[in-house]
Amino acid sequence: MNAARSMMGFPSEAVADTQMAWAEALGADQGSTGGRILYIHMPFCRSRCTFCPFYYGSANDQERNEYVKVLANELSQWGQEFQSAPVNSIYFGGGTPSDMTPDEIALLLRTLHRHFKLSSDCEITLESRIDGLDDAKISAAVDNGVNRFSLGVQTFDTTLRRKLGRTSARKTVLETLSRLTSCNHASVTADIIYGLPGQTAAMLLNDLETMLNDTALSGFSFYRMHLHERLELARAIKADKMPELPDDETCFELFKLCEERMSAAGAKRISFKHFSFHPRERNLHNEISAWKVPCLPFGMNAGGRLGKFKFKQSGNFKDYKSMIESGCKPLASAGVFPADFPLAAKISGQLNCRMNLNLELCIPAAPRQIRERVRAELESALEQLEREGYFYAESYNSRLLTARGRFDCAKVASSLMTTAAKVYYQEKIIS
Ligand code: SF4
Repeated sequence: MNAARSMMGFPSEAVADTQMAWAEALGADQGSTGGRILYIHMPFCRSRCTFCPFYYGSANDQERNEYVKVLANELSQWGQEFQSAPVNSIYFGGGTPSDMTPDEIALLLRTLHRHFKLSSDCEITLESRIDGLDDAKISAAVDNGVNRFSLGVQTFDTTLRRKLGRTSARKTVLETLSRLTSCNHASVTADIIYGLPGQTAAMLLNDLETMLNDTALSGFSFYRMHLHERLELARAIKADKMPELPDDETCFELFKLCEERMSAAGAKRISFKHFSFHPRERNLHNEISAWKVPCLPFGMNAGGRLGKFKFKQSGNFKDYKSMIESGCKPLASAGVFPADFPLAAKISGQLNCRMNLNLELCIPAAPRQIRERVRAELESALEQLEREGYFYAESYNSRLLTARGRFDCAKVASSLMTTAAKVYYQEKIIS
């Protein structure tokens, strides 16, 4: 397990008996009063976007309907196990959850309300694609408790959208956003990507101005485009059918452009990659998830964590369905997090949500016998990161991320978590 730590992926030691691991995690969770979130996965999309690493496949109406019924069954089986603490956030991700029919959306939401204890301010997010999000689906969602829509816009530039496999034009995007925001029931946020092939500062600024002037969005997520070899987009670039991605420094300029424009607009920063225009947009899911609280996975291919374990559900429908029918959690794999996971969670949560780091809030998560060494190693790493321009010192023991630090937040987090982990290895807390 001597692997680098990162905000998104943490190493774990595989467990042979996944059902035993789930039972142990459930047992340890009994009586827990801490926060928890649910992740519910809809694996299918009607078509593939060229930049997407999450595409799984498509399903016809009958296949999707059968999947939704089995998923509802899974939800109803496990709700009673998690009654000691309310669920703070439910996230329908994918894939394309908005491809469900109104009846399917209502079925899953009613099942959740019936079987789980939800906090009175539980955030329920439905990830949506622009195409096909009609009024009946919006009503089914908000009538049954959805209070946040996350729309995959990426860019408003019609030509660039089409090149990325997004079929709808700017006009349709604006019309869909307007229908959603005017229902006045939910936070409506968009994903915007920067560092797209051929994207200039003027094009990005146009996207930012569009959000500010032509929509009533509650906020947005600002993601950098990363290329993986297996993406269709990577193949198109290799074949000279698409321009190269902008380099690191150009992406940093685009990132700063967004920060400057949002600062001038008075947008509230709610994480290193999320902005809010309206108090309705809290992005509780990111706020809670960043601290690595239990995230209960439901649906094919869903990933999650509970206690010291991380879990991945089956991606094979036949296996998924038969495990649920036999009363098992439909798991494909489980792993045990190393002992430095609680400390890493404190580092990751602070950097992600507060964009700062106060070592005093992290150190108590380390075993007592190595705290001073962990403190010394992290302090030295922080001084180095400060010299390199990623942090500046503030009062009350806090160091704040600079613009460079916010841009490279994942890299900074990975370096600090890996530095701390080395102490655990050297002191033989983990082997
Ligand atoms: S709709 Fe979303 S999940 Fe599906 S291929 Fe496009 S970006 Fe990926």
